[in-house]
Amino acid sequence: MTLAKVLVSACLLGRPVRYNGSAKTLEDALLERWISEGRVVSVCPEVMAGLPIPRSPAEIANGASGAAVLEQGGRIVEADGKDVTAAYLAGARIALEHAVRHDCRYALLTDGSPSCGGNFIYDGSFEGRRIDGEGVTAALLRQHGIAVFSQSEFSSLAAALDG
Ligand code: SF4
Repeated sequence: MTLAKVLVSACLLGRPVRYNGSAKTLEDALLERWISEGRVVSVCPEVMAGLPIPRSPAEIANGASGAAVLEQGGRIVEADGKDVTAAYLAGARIALEHAVRHDCRYALLTDGSPSCGGNFIYDGSFEGRRIDGEGVTAALLRQHGIAVFSQSEFSSLAAALDG
């Protein structure tokens, strides 16, 4: 039987790829097992799109969500107002390509990110205000039928993957 694969945010896997050069490592023995079983496909949409480490933090503007960016109504901007929508969209498409190529029907993504957020993001004010919503990569994956879980939902993902 082929073991189901899961797309995972690289920063959860300990890669220092976040905007500030840090990781957001999720330490879990089950995740370690999945890695050893070859079930984990690591992606960082932003770095795969060519953005540098470190890079300026970015948020989806005006309290919009990732779906609005995909529909070309929303924008992703850096704190100084620079529009980086194109790069974030490119990263989302690359992540989707990886998911399709590896037949991932599940993804474990870092919440809060304008790319990977699955449950919450920030409102575009750069004042640390969280809102319900999803990043552009999470939105694109969901539009293609991939179930997205955040790191706080790891046990739900484990149940879905092996259930
Ligand atoms: Fe992590 Fe996703 Fe941000 Fe890359 S784009 S640093 S994988 S949250």
